[in-house]
Amino acid sequence: MEQFPEVVVCRLGHRPGRDDRMTTHVGLTARALGADRVIFPDNATDAVETAEDITDRFGGPFTAELVEKPAAVVRNWEGPIAHLTMYGEPVQTVESEIRSTVTEGDDPLLVVVGAEKVPFEMYEQADWNVGVTNQPHSEIAGLAVFLDRLFDGDELDREWVDASRKVVPKETGKLVLPVSEE
Ligand code: SAM
Repeated sequence: MEQFPEVVVCRLGHRPGRDDRMTTHVGLTARALGADRVIFPDNATDAVETAEDITDRFGGPFTAELVEKPAAVVRNWEGPIAHLTMYGEPVQTVESEIRSTVTEGDDPLLVVVGAEKVPFEMYEQADWNVGVTNQPHSEIAGLAVFLDRLFDGDELDREWVDASRKVVPKETGKLVLPVSEE
């Protein structure tokens, strides 16, 4: 997002069929709430296509990519890592430390979300294990709240670049305009 170091979301694991919608929504939520990039396991091809299609229509910058081993991306990441987990420290306790570490450093932040059981090494490789409440819920909800806290709400007012269409907020009804005709 503008004025903020790069934020990359990494989806660990994807079970085709069962996780299709969830993995796609991890990508859409990452994009909508200010992340710059999402990394999916290489069996999540539909999620990449949807993220690219939405970015083409509604703007970016945002990129989605497939990697063979997301766990290796985490292992080799040179910047700070926040792993979202119900077992972690409360987001409200660690958010300011994460924000200042990222904004005062040069390296991109990796935000890791799980699907099925997350290997224990992930808890050790993370600089912060972050709980959005310590209740079980979803990676999409956890990611949305985490990004909103990280950006302190600024992502809600961000500008979208190279969109071919734009939603015009309305009290009632739906209005989508081609950007050039606005
Ligand atoms: N049972 C799995 C395990 O033991 O790791 C977790 C499955 S959960 C449905 C999938 C992902 O949602 C988790 O890996 C985590 O990233 C995210 N998640 C679920 N609850 C969360 C919470 N309270 N705070 C942060 N992230 C959460």
